Amino acid sequence: MKKHQILGTILLSLAFFLVTLNLPGQEVEARGVEFLKKAVDQVSEQNIMASIKSLQGFKTRNLLSEQKADHFGLGAARRWLIKEFQKIPGLEVVDDGYRLPKQGGRIVQDTELHNIVAIKKGKATRERIIIVNAHYDTIAVSKDGKFHYEDVNTEAPGANDDASGVAALLEMARIIAPLETEATIHFIAFAGEEQGLIGSTLYARKMKQQGKNVEAVLTMDMISNIKAGNGYIDSTRVRVFSDDPNDSPSRELARYVKRVAEQVYPSFEVNLIYRADRFGRGGDHTPFVLEGFPGIRFTEARENYSVQHSTLDTIENLSVSYGADVTRVVLASLLSLACGPEAPQVTSERGTPLLGRGQGYDAELRWKWSGNRGNLAGFKVYMKDTRSPYWERVYFAGTNESFLLKNVSIDDWTFGVSAVGTNGLESLVSIYRMPPRRRAEYTFEEIK
Ligand SMILES: [Zn+2]
Repeated sequence: MKKHQILGTILLSLAFFLVTLNLPGQEVEARGVEFLKKAVDQVSEQNIMASIKSLQGFKTRNLLSEQKADHFGLGAARRWLIKEFQKIPGLEVVDDGYRLPKQGGRIVQDTELHNIVAIKKGKATRERIIIVNAHYDTIAVSKDGKFHYEDVNTEAPGANDDASGVAALLEMARIIAPLETEATIHFIAFAGEEQGLIGSTLYARKMKQQGKNVEAVLTMDMISNIKAGNGYIDSTRVRVFSDDPNDSPSRELARYVKRVAEQVYPSFEVNLIYRADRFGRGGDHTPFVLEGFPGIRFTEARENYSVQHSTLDTIENLSVSYGADVTRVVLASLLSLACGPEAPQVTSERGTPLLGRGQGYDAELRWKWSGNRGNLAGFKVYMKDTRSPYWERVYFAGTNESFLLKNVSIDDWTFGVSAVGTNGLESLVSIYRMPPRRRAEYTFEEIK
């Protein structure tokens, strides 16, 4: 090989190296998927099973049930849960408690409500919070098959609803705690879900009042049933509920979860349901959505209504291996969000979307990004038909904070932009949304 050829080869490989370093190409993304796969491989069915058994063992976890006994009722379950979180090094465990006086509806006596929060601190300078949650309380009908809310110590094992979610929460906390994350994660076991989403409502309000930057809320509620009462069986899909409209931050979070989880765990399907929740039912993601935070709900593909809220909701009637699969899906999404860069800002301080028509007929997209540029591989611009459920096109935009799509109408498409880190993980996609038009007010007098 001649001297100039060697030099050429060196320059070429250097250029290739720089390109792979600076562009979110496939090599970089593969790095991200590998990292997530390693974490997902650690999910243990045995751990999940043990947690569900322990929680079911307290007989009832009704919010208003026995508080003082050692092995019975919500108080015992709460103390067990705090200990389980405290066993995990690297987490700060917070008892988020409230006093609730007897009031209408299902709060038939004075009570205390305690959300248990385990915090994994992230290293980003500007605080970013991701909330993953399940509820540890239960409820069940009495022997006559009807709800009697004053019947507070009636048996309510709640293995699937929602010990399955709490078990997943503990398992994810164990796996993520030793890792370095950018975002701070709040692993939360809520109480009072069955009395009307009380714990999550109070926590969501607190986050809003404190001006917290909550980027995503992932709720796991009933994630281990595979057989419906009509005989239908589904063990390879999970439903993810997200509220309208189609360009809402919650919907975009759902799309993100599907994209990431199916990359990492291809044998499992994330079935996006474009609806806030099931008819007549509620979930702990909703109070957060009402406060303006993006939130979604994970629930099994097939429900068994005859088991729910009854003494039959026990570990024998659920599939732990299916629950472990759902845990893998949530874990992959959560870790990708927490270790990925923050999402770009696509609106001005005043809330105006940062897009224009360029020379008159183009789509000129601009954004601001306040993450660490040293860890930035580049930005990705997404595009889809306004009616489309998923993104259709993706363009690599390099590290500039703008991108021009020549002769593309900004009115006829939905656009979004994400940031990709050098670790191969991607942020949520920020969507350019049409700001709501306010009704104009004029001074006038009607002519009679
Ligand atoms: Zn539930």
